[in-house]
Amino acid sequence: MASDNYSVRGGTAVITLNNPPVNAMGHAVRQELAAHLDAAWADPSVQAIVIIGAGKLFCGGADVKAFNTPASRAEPSSRTIVKRIEESAKPVIAAIHGSALGLGLEFAMGCHYRIAQRGAKLGLPEVKLGLLPGGGGTQRLPRLVGVEAALRMIVEGNPVDADEALKMGLVDEVAAGDLLPAALEFAVRVAQRGEHPVASRRQAPPPAEPGWFEAQRTKIAAAKRGLPAPLECVACIEAAVTRPFDEGMKFERERFDVLVNGTESKALRHLFLAERAAAKIAGLPADTPVGEVRRVAVIGAGTMGSGIAMSFASAGIPVSLLETKQEALDRGLATIRKNYAGTVAKGKLAQAEADARIARIEPTLDFARVADADLVIEAVFEDMDIKKELFRKLDATCKTGAILATNTSRLDVNEIAASTARPSSVIGLHFFSPANVMRLVEVVRGKATGPEVIATSMAVSRRIGKLPVLVGVCDGFVGNRMVAQYAREAEFLLEEGATPEQVDGALKKFGLAMGRFAMSDLAGLDISWASRKRAAATRPAHLRYSKVADRLCELGRFGQKTGAGFYRYEAGSRTPIPDPLVSQIIEECALEAGIQRRPIGDEEIVERCIYALVNEGAKVLQEGIAQRASDIDLIYVNGYGFPAWRGGPMFYAETVGLKKVYERIREFHEQQGEFWKPAPLLKKLAEEGKGFRDLG
Ligand code: NAD
Repeated sequence: MASDNYSVRGGTAVITLNNPPVNAMGHAVRQELAAHLDAAWADPSVQAIVIIGAGKLFCGGADVKAFNTPASRAEPSSRTIVKRIEESAKPVIAAIHGSALGLGLEFAMGCHYRIAQRGAKLGLPEVKLGLLPGGGGTQRLPRLVGVEAALRMIVEGNPVDADEALKMGLVDEVAAGDLLPAALEFAVRVAQRGEHPVASRRQAPPPAEPGWFEAQRTKIAAAKRGLPAPLECVACIEAAVTRPFDEGMKFERERFDVLVNGTESKALRHLFLAERAAAKIAGLPADTPVGEVRRVAVIGAGTMGSGIAMSFASAGIPVSLLETKQEALDRGLATIRKNYAGTVAKGKLAQAEADARIARIEPTLDFARVADADLVIEAVFEDMDIKKELFRKLDATCKTGAILATNTSRLDVNEIAASTARPSSVIGLHFFSPANVMRLVEVVRGKATGPEVIATSMAVSRRIGKLPVLVGVCDGFVGNRMVAQYAREAEFLLEEGATPEQVDGALKKFGLAMGRFAMSDLAGLDISWASRKRAAATRPAHLRYSKVADRLCELGRFGQKTGAGFYRYEAGSRTPIPDPLVSQIIEECALEAGIQRRPIGDEEIVERCIYALVNEGAKVLQEGIAQRASDIDLIYVNGYGFPAWRGGPMFYAETVGLKKVYERIREFHEQQGEFWKPAPLLKKLAEEGKGFRDLG
C-alpha cells in the first residue's frame, strides 16, 4: 500500500499523520491511519511501525469543530485503533516532534513506545476547553507517570517538554537530532524484543499519601471556582487507581459526555474557535503584505505607555519611550523596573532576561527618536487637541510607511488621522490596563486605514503575545461603548433600591471577576467624572441621569486611591467596606429624582446589567463596529473580566435564548424608557428564532 503517507524502510513501516495545519485526528485521518496500520500488520516484511506527523508537529488533537457531531464518534475511533495497536505483536512507536496535544498525546500513549524530539511539547489541554481527555488520557497517563504528575498535567492542562517527559516516564527516548532516523533506529532495536509494554495492562499506583485525592478535590474546587471539568478530571484519575482499565475507560467516557454536552465546555470551545475567527478580516485579502516591525516608539510613559513599552521589550522588539519631562520619564521607568523585579521575585523570570528586556527600552526626551520607528504608539493624555498636535508632529517627523497608532480609549480615530497628511497610516491600538499583562488589544480601523496597516497591526500584536480584535470607530469602540450601558444600569439600580455590595455580589455570583462598583473604585472615579462634566452641556435634559457618582466625587471620594468611593477602605487595604454615608447619598439622589425605592433581587440585577451589554452588542454588530458576535465575546472575556465559562455576553444571550432576552429587554423598554430601545438586529433574530451565529 504505497501512498505519500505510508512507506516501508528497512523493515519498518512509516505512517505519516498528514492533515494540515495541525494533523487533527478527524474522521478521515483515523480512517487512513487504520488502513495503513492494516497494511503494515499484513506485510510480513514489516517488523515495526513508526507513526510520525507531517509538517511542524505530531498532532494537535481532535477536531474541535467536530465535537457534538456524529463524525467525532464515527468508527474507527481512536479508542478502537489504540485497542488494536495494544494487541499488535509488532511494536508501534509514536515519533513526536513539535507537539503532541490532547487526542494526539492520548493516541501516542496508546502506542507501545514514544520517542520525542528535543524541545517537543506533550500535553493534555482539554481542561482548558471545559473537557477531560476522553481518549483514554486519564487512564493511561497515571499508569505511565503516576497519579501526582498525571493530575498536575491534566488539571492544569499545561504541556511538558520532551526532556521532562523522559524524566517522568512519559517518553522512552529523546532524539537530539533528526527525529525520523532516530525513530527508525529505535524501531530496529525494539523490534528484537519479545514483548512490548502496554500501558493499559497495569494498574496506576495509588498516591503516596492517604486522603490525597480528597485534599486535591478541596484545593482544586477552591482554585477553579467550582468549575466541573477539573473535578471530573480528578475523579477519572482516581478511577485509574481504583478500577480495572476497561471500567476506567467507561467511566472516562461517561464523564466526558456529561462535560461535552454542558454549557461551560460549549462556551470555552466557542471562545477557542472565536480566537481563530478573530484573525480573519473581511475585505482584507489573505495575501495583504505584512510590514516588518523592527523598532517601536511609544509616546507617553504613564500608566499605559510603560505597560505597552514592556510588552514590546518582552517580545524582543526594541522600543524608544518618549516623554516631554524628565520626571515623567523617570517615573515610567521606575514602574517598568518594579514590574520586572516583581516577576523575577516570583521566580517567573531570570534576572538576566529582565535586564535584557529593560535594556531594550530606550528612555528619551528627544522627539527625533520617532523618526526611524516602524510603529509609533501614542499614549499621552486623553485630550483631542493634544493628540492632534502630536499627530501633526509625527506626520512631519516619522519615516514614510511608519504606522502611527493611538491608544485612545474613546476619541475619534478618524479625526486624529485627519490631522495628518497620511490618514491611511493611522490606526487605533487600544491596549487594556495593565498593558503588560492584559491580552486584549482593540485594533481600531479608521475610515482611511490602509489594508497593510491593519494586517501589520494585527500581526505585530500577535507577535507580542496579545489577542488583537478588529473594531470600528465610534464612541468607546466596542468594549467601552458597551460597558457604559452596563455601568448606567448598575447606577440606576442603586437609586431604585439596591446597594453597591448587593449589585457587586450578584454580578460576582454570575461569574464576573469583579463587581461594577469595586471595579470603579479600583480604576478611579475622577476620570469618568471629568468626561461627564465635559459632556454635561450636550446631555439631553429629558434622559434619566444618576448623580450618585458625581456626589461621591464632589466629596473627594475617587475610589481606592483616596480611601473611599462607592465603598470605604482601611489604610493599606483593598478590601471594600460598605459605607453608610454612601447609602445616605444614594437615598438622597433617589428622593431628588422622585424614585420610589423598592427591594431588588439578584436576578433583576444580572438581567439589567448583562442584557444592557447584549442590546448594545447587537447594535455594535449591526453597525459593523464589530465584525462578528464572537469578537465581542472575546473583547468582554479578555478585557472586562466576563467569565470565560459563560462564553461572553453574546454567547450567554444565546444560551438563555435570544427570544427570552429580547422579551425582557422589551419589558425594560416599557418600564425604563429610551435607553432600552431594543436593537433592531436582536428583534429580528428573536422573531426569526435565530442566533448571532446564524449571521455567518
Ligand atoms: P497617564 O496620565 O498615566 O500618562 C500620560 C503620559 O503622557 C504622562 O506621563 C505625560 O507626561 C505624557 N505626555 C503627555 N503629553 C505628552 C506629549 N506631548 N509627549 C510625550 N508625552 C506626553 O495616562 P494613561 O492612563 O497612560 O492614558 C494614556 C492614554 O491611554 C489615554 O489616551 C487613555 O485614554 C488611554 N487609555 C488608558 C487606559 C487606562 O486604563 N489608564 C486604558 C486604555 C487606554
